[in-house]
Amino acid sequence: MKKHNFSAGPSILPKEVINESSRSVAELDSIGLSLIEISHRSKEFISIMNEAQSLVLKLLKLDSSNYKVLFLQGGASMQFLMTAINLLDKRAGFINTGSWSQKAINEAKIFGEVIEVASSKDKNYNYIPKKISIAKKIDYLHLTTNNTIFGTQFKNIPNIDVPLIADMSSDIFSRDIDYSQFDLFYAGAQKNMGPAGTTLVVIKENLLGKVNRKIPSMLDYKVHIDKESMFNTPPVFAVYTSLLTLRWIDSKGGLKEIEKMNNKKSEMIYNEIDRNKAFIGFTENEDRSIMNATFNLKDGLNDELFNKLCEDNGISGIKGHRSVGGFRASIYNAMSIESIEVLINVMKKFEKLIL
Ligand SMILES: *Cc1c(COP(=O)(O)O)cnc(C)c1O
Repeated sequence: MKKHNFSAGPSILPKEVINESSRSVAELDSIGLSLIEISHRSKEFISIMNEAQSLVLKLLKLDSSNYKVLFLQGGASMQFLMTAINLLDKRAGFINTGSWSQKAINEAKIFGEVIEVASSKDKNYNYIPKKISIAKKIDYLHLTTNNTIFGTQFKNIPNIDVPLIADMSSDIFSRDIDYSQFDLFYAGAQKNMGPAGTTLVVIKENLLGKVNRKIPSMLDYKVHIDKESMFNTPPVFAVYTSLLTLRWIDSKGGLKEIEKMNNKKSEMIYNEIDRNKAFIGFTENEDRSIMNATFNLKDGLNDELFNKLCEDNGISGIKGHRSVGGFRASIYNAMSIESIEVLINVMKKFEKLIL
């Protein structure tokens, strides 16, 4: 039976990418060696790293004279502390839109004062706060552009006068926004770019050098920039697979076309959630994520039956995060319209069965 992977992360990648990256483990193109047994200093791998870095900038419409691209390790979770250790001098501002923002806040508190300039905690993070009040001077503002667990997403990025840092783990490369609004953004690869094991960091170098503390080399952005992401052995498999995904995005016409598809797919799902008498959306409509659609059954309905129907139809990874419950359909770039249609048909079938 064909499987439809709605997992929130690690998550679906294009089939072509999986096939080609699998082949590279056996033998990389024609060099006669496996990708994972060659030196990261070889000309083959250096060209992979260089192409990945320049494709990131090309797709995001950024210039290499302003922005540096790093492929680091430790996940987005490592960036929660790396951003703070490198950039938090006295005080940082955070918009708290859920668990991941909260984790970033907790790490930053180790290095300085943190103020929450806005939060949606009052409604279990089912919306994006629109009013942001910054009363004190802050070194930077940190936000999470897409809230993977709750299914909310910033449609408008706050326009403020301090450096802007964003966790884009679950919506990087999903939409054609102005990425030059940000001074630094990062994303764990495993949501929309590649396998777990590397984290993309895009950074304006002029942000650095403003804190006095000593920074251990592995945590120092400056060290990684100077060594062009090769300070130590980079995660070669994760970087190569990410490169294949970046090429795939490019071949589809870049972020403009990708965004059109994502808008169409998410609209299909949300239309069904709103039409179907058995389900109710979790978030405020205007803040709905185009990557993670969260929804619940109406009161008194039985999860088991819907889960069973999903399973019988090859739908995998649809269970909501434990802090929200219900269901979550993650519909990253590689998710096909066909799989969305399968899910919608299952939702329709469920409605007929129970009502
Ligand atoms: C998944 C996720 C993370 C955590 O990423 P790791 O790479 O596992 O550390 C952080 N932020 C967001 C928004 C996520 O979706």
